[in-house]
Amino acid sequence: MVVLSNVNKHFGALHVLQDIDLTITRGEVVVVIGPSGSGKSTLCRTINRLETIDSGEITIDGKPLPQEGKELAGLRADVGMVFQSFNLFSHKTVLENVTLGQVKVRKADKKAAETKARQLLDRVGVGAQAEKYPAQLSGGQQQRVAIARALAMDPKVMLFDEPTSALDPEMINEVLEVMQQLARDGMTMVVVTHEMGFARSAANRVVFMADGKIVEEAQPEEFFSNPRSDRAKDFLSKIL
Ligand code: ADP
Ligand code: MG
Repeated sequence: MVVLSNVNKHFGALHVLQDIDLTITRGEVVVVIGPSGSGKSTLCRTINRLETIDSGEITIDGKPLPQEGKELAGLRADVGMVFQSFNLFSHKTVLENVTLGQVKVRKADKKAAETKARQLLDRVGVGAQAEKYPAQLSGGQQQRVAIARALAMDPKVMLFDEPTSALDPEMINEVLEVMQQLARDGMTMVVVTHEMGFARSAANRVVFMADGKIVEEAQPEEFFSNPRSDRAKDFLSKIL
């Protein structure tokens, strides 16, 4: 579904992504972990082309990433992204947040978009908040709205960049549970997270990044019980 081949990216002198090769198959849940500054967010951002790459190739469902214009909006709809900072439209209601992209990008009929939005909001447990504005919701509720908004576009893959890092502790699980359910439903997912419980239970594969490189890739059981590289051992000793 998502293939990165020999991807390189610099920020000035900083070689932030170095020869990245990564293949994510349909229905797979890949959890990306690694120290701060290792390039995890940049990796996610290149997949929906919020960042350009210097060399290499990225394909989604067999097609190279488009350069600009309408096709780029289509790509961003195909590749749903959920950020640490919910990024909802603050001057729009919850319902409008979830219908807008459907109407503008997917050219859905307004009624149909609203019906679908309400179904999705119910599915993530915030159906009762549809007429409210984001600021009236808790962080956990806002993040679930952000997930519903991305799902409304019928994405081929969902990227999550530390979706629970900005949440109060008591709200983390309600977001992780929605993500767990999504994983069980067969969504293709790339998840950057420090939630090792989620990685253990939901991931098909853990990708460990450090200094712009993929240092290690393994099934969660194997990675957590038997990390091979010193970098991964060191990282795990600090967080577990
Ligand atoms: P992570 O998500 O693993 O913490 P990032 O991908 O955010 O890492 O950042 C990797 C490195 O790239 C860091 O050193 C960061 O400071 C740098 N970086 C990220 N975005 C930019 C940018 N837009 N301009 C310059 N440097 C950046
Ligand atoms: Mg990051």
